[in-house]
Amino acid sequence: MENQCLTPYKSCRLCPRNCGVDRLAGETGFCGETSALRAAVALLHFGEEPPLVGNGGSGTIFISGCNLGCAFCQNYQISQGEGNGALGKTVSAEGFASICAALRDKGAENINIVTGSHAIPAIIEGIISARRAGVRLPVLWNSSAYENTEALELLREHVEIYLPDLKTLDGGIAEKFFNAPDYPKAAAEAIIKMTGMAGAREKVIVRHLILPGYLESTREVLRWFADNVKNRAMLSLMTQYTPSGGRVKELNDIPKRFLSKEEYDTVMGYLEEFGIENGFCQELVTGNDWLPDFTRANPFSSELSVPVWHFKSLS
Ligand code: SF4
Repeated sequence: MENQCLTPYKSCRLCPRNCGVDRLAGETGFCGETSALRAAVALLHFGEEPPLVGNGGSGTIFISGCNLGCAFCQNYQISQGEGNGALGKTVSAEGFASICAALRDKGAENINIVTGSHAIPAIIEGIISARRAGVRLPVLWNSSAYENTEALELLREHVEIYLPDLKTLDGGIAEKFFNAPDYPKAAAEAIIKMTGMAGAREKVIVRHLILPGYLESTREVLRWFADNVKNRAMLSLMTQYTPSGGRVKELNDIPKRFLSKEEYDTVMGYLEEFGIENGFCQELVTGNDWLPDFTRANPFSSELSVPVWHFKSLS
């Protein structure tokens, strides 16, 4: 019998790339993934926003592959890969459920699915399997927001909390650094859609990573946030841009430095200017010792995470 969950893979238009390829037949589009769900690592994460971490940590599952392609991606090894494709291994729906159960048994506060936009149908299958196996934790959708609203609709019954990025509203930046000039329109629509589906302000946290030297982009994002979703979502400002990730060395205009104190203070002024009061803000990050290495059993430092599953493990 045909698996209805996976039907959207038949002619894949899950994201704005609209490749139209048959991933069930093994074809691949921009994201490079077939219909087989691949994951890299699962761990208890203590570096997310405080309400998501709680006492037990956020039960984070890093999905392999990505539909966006940010040049500065901190998870480059598992999102795009270095020559041999994104790191990770295939997990069945039952395997996904076992990982969720292992996270729960270790004390996770939630199931935090990182970068699953290109794998929504298989992830839903996995969540259904996890629910059947008795995992009742809230599910958190942690994504770039480069998603079609029709694909997000599929998540309605399965996801409780949304954690989308809003990286920029500048099409030029999106084209240069993400290979996606339509990112601003798609992400804005996706975030509006998420606020409608979540129905409560605490259930949508919009993340924005400040790009050093591109404060006008940040100002535009904050203005949009204030004008459109301030009363329906919280803001999380991130300062952890690092010049050593992904393909930063290969691109000319991309920042080659950390955020400065002056830039940080300027952005704090924008928050006041737009009356944004509810949310989270990282302290200024000026080092890259926190950067993950996904070839290790624990990709982060021991203060930041407790490993539960790794793609190199046997089960
Ligand atoms: S999910 Fe992948 S194959 Fe599907 S439209 Fe997006 S990039 Fe293309």
